[in-house]
Amino acid sequence: MTNISNHIIDELKNVSGDKGWSTDKGELEAHLTEWRSRWQGRTPLLLKPASTDEISEILKICNRHGCKLVPQGGNTGLVNGSMPDESGDEILLSLKRLNKEIRIDTVNDTITADAGITVKQLQDYAQDHGRLFPLSLASEGSCTIGGIVSTNAGGVHVLRYGSTRDLTLGLEAVMPTGEIIDELSGLRKDNTGYSLSHMLIGAEGTLGIVTRATFKLYPAIRQRFVMMVGMHDVIQATALLQEAKTFAGDNISAFELIPGTGLEFIIKHIPGTTAPITTHCNWLALIEFGLISMDENFSDRMENWLEKQLLTGNIIDATIAQSEHQAQALWHLRETMSEAQKTEGASIKHDISVPISNIEAFISAANEAVETVCPDVRPVPFGHLGDGNLHYNLSQPESMDGEEFMALEKAFNDVVYDIVMDMGGSISAEHGIGKLKVDELEKRKNPAELAAMKAIKKALDPNSILNIGRILK
Ligand code: FAD
Repeated sequence: MTNISNHIIDELKNVSGDKGWSTDKGELEAHLTEWRSRWQGRTPLLLKPASTDEISEILKICNRHGCKLVPQGGNTGLVNGSMPDESGDEILLSLKRLNKEIRIDTVNDTITADAGITVKQLQDYAQDHGRLFPLSLASEGSCTIGGIVSTNAGGVHVLRYGSTRDLTLGLEAVMPTGEIIDELSGLRKDNTGYSLSHMLIGAEGTLGIVTRATFKLYPAIRQRFVMMVGMHDVIQATALLQEAKTFAGDNISAFELIPGTGLEFIIKHIPGTTAPITTHCNWLALIEFGLISMDENFSDRMENWLEKQLLTGNIIDATIAQSEHQAQALWHLRETMSEAQKTEGASIKHDISVPISNIEAFISAANEAVETVCPDVRPVPFGHLGDGNLHYNLSQPESMDGEEFMALEKAFNDVVYDIVMDMGGSISAEHGIGKLKVDELEKRKNPAELAAMKAIKKALDPNSILNIGRILK
């Protein structure tokens, strides 16, 4: 059942063309289920437009009738923002058919792509042209250009290249009233007033539909070195990060933290994985150095540096990948962390950031606080230590019922986010707000900032049609 009239649904089908819509249950299923099966949505109509003009017509109709719309890319988002709710009163707009074109300009060092192109496709295209599109995340085979822009996605190379916002030069987008904006020029300098593109980045589809994006490109990596090192504690890990920056400067591409318990989950649940180092370590770090020109001596210098870290007691063990195959195997361990944790039962996630100097203090304080909520909870903090972003995840006690554990989510959130705020951090480092963290944002965002955000939403989406209830109440 839906409150959207047949007349509006027919209008929307008409402008989308025969291949541009579906009500088929089987087809809708994947669009209405979250990858961890945490949320389920309902919609009377899936729209699949293939052009910016079609999207403009769709938005004009929705705006005229006040009909609500939810944009969706690869549906890999983790905050319940990309699916219609259970009311059945939201139309789903998939951008996946907007996937025809990638254009590269190797003189300007820019790449422009349709919103439905996946990150992996973009990376491969840039690589085929001797360039690097540096955004990299475990969902890159499925997540789309429109999705990464709308969530300002981060990933594993933020410490070197920044997040999607830093990589984006401009967007083409359809505003809620159906007007099309075009800021795809690829200019590095353009101070002609407000940047609408930057307003849409990280807006999670609440301010407009991203239809194309132009990004910066970087020189391809000619030599890469990947290693896994083991440590006793997080103080050693942050000290090692400083050492690695001093040693390699701009050549450090990733510095990812993995807890020993997390590695145990991976070895136990992910087929074909083995421990990278034999010594038991409470913490591990995956470090990647990437060079844009060949340096025959780098490998020796790096080994000497690592040996010094061992001798001075900064680390307790290490392994360096000797081939691309081994490098991929080390990365596989890091990338399957979420999947492995999923197999350990129910988990509650906190995608937080604090200044890197506070990471150790945060983990200690949070571990203590979550035990007051549930004594046998198993914290599995991992992630992008290099930019201060941790996935402070909690696995259920082995003996506890999953649903009983999930019922404690609010209590866990309260204690964890209080510590985050006290340490000058953020309750959403890279995944966004979606529906999941709307109340938390309302509670914790500076009131002046929240009021400005609501005023922008009202001005750009006067009839409240786009992703209502995501980010803002
Ligand atoms: P969706 O999930 O479809 O949508 C995300 C949001 O953007 C929704 O609010 C949606 O309405 C909106 N949206 C989508 N397309 C458009 C558009 N064209 N115009 C306007 N709004 C739009 N994220 C990180 O930042 N870093 C990580 O390291 C990371 N790792 C992940 C690992 C795994 C295994 C998984 C499953 C997810 C991970 N994510 C990560 C989260 C997710 O992949 C990103 O948020 C990604 O950017 C979402 O892209 P998507 O195309 O799937 O968007």
